[in-house]
Amino acid sequence: LVVGLEAIRDLPAETLDGRSIPLWVNTAMGADVNRSLERGAEGIGLYRTEVPFMIRESFPTEAEQVQSYRVQLESFAPRSVTMRTLDIGGDKALPYFPIEEDNPFLGWRGIRVTLDHPEIFKVQVRAMLKASIGLDNLRIMLPMVSYVGEVIEAKRLINDALNELRDEGLPIARPALGVMIEVPAAVYQARDIARHVDFLSVGSNDLTQYLLAVDRNNPRVAGLYHSYHPAVLQALRCVVEEGHKEGVQVSICGEMAGDPGGAVLLMAMGYDVLSMSPIHLPKVKAAIRAVKYAEACAMLDNVMQLLDPKAVEEAIYTLLYDAG
Ligand code: PEP
Ligand code: MG
Repeated sequence: LVVGLEAIRDLPAETLDGRSIPLWVNTAMGADVNRSLERGAEGIGLYRTEVPFMIRESFPTEAEQVQSYRVQLESFAPRSVTMRTLDIGGDKALPYFPIEEDNPFLGWRGIRVTLDHPEIFKVQVRAMLKASIGLDNLRIMLPMVSYVGEVIEAKRLINDALNELRDEGLPIARPALGVMIEVPAAVYQARDIARHVDFLSVGSNDLTQYLLAVDRNNPRVAGLYHSYHPAVLQALRCVVEEGHKEGVQVSICGEMAGDPGGAVLLMAMGYDVLSMSPIHLPKVKAAIRAVKYAEACAMLDNVMQLLDPKAVEEAIYTLLYDAG
């Protein structure tokens, strides 16, 4: 296994006809960093900052947050590290900050919570900025955005935090800012959102759940949760096209990017970066290295005409099996 990982680590994620795509990772804990570097990750596309919050008994202080963020930033420097601001609510609960709602997935989640609690948001952003001193590889990403106003308000708070720290004499570089596209409303506003930020990143786990009205964690409807549903594919293509019209990087950090078939499809759509759990990186890289970009694009043209998610999956995997 170790030999296999080493062999794949140093190879580029490049198709047989020379198209390459950076493979980044999703992390949550300090321990994810080493397993990601061992597999050749070229950046962190999603650091789920709520996970260290979830395993504690109270909110971590600014200094404690600086410490855990620094581990991610330092280990990956000079590669990019994308830190998502606190994404609680929905399926992610903090024991010391209970949220009781009838409809948690349509409720107080992600950016909605932190814009209502700017003091929590500001402390977190200050910690991220402080942790990045001298490294300059921080990117900040906002979860669960459903309209442009949220981006403008979050940007204002980030600017305040940046100015405060600079007033304290700290040499902080301005981080890149991005928005997760994971609510259907944001798909249709991808271009408007892109005008305010440096990158977009699709959260296909939530986007699929909301587009199909299928709870991502409910086994009774798991058979209806299809990343290859034609509506999901249309939405994914729309985001990359609209983002590119504004010249911003468009990435994806949902589970779909860690599925070899999904990864090849997303590369053909034009995604600039695929970010996945470290465990999936070697097999995604192997799949990309086994296909031709031109064939992946032909497959994409074909599957965009199909109406049945199962038929889409079959077409994708036929390409992968034929490639060996
Ligand atoms: C997503 O929704 O696709 C995503 C990457 O975020 P999370 O799974 O943490 O909600
Ligand atoms: Mg999400």
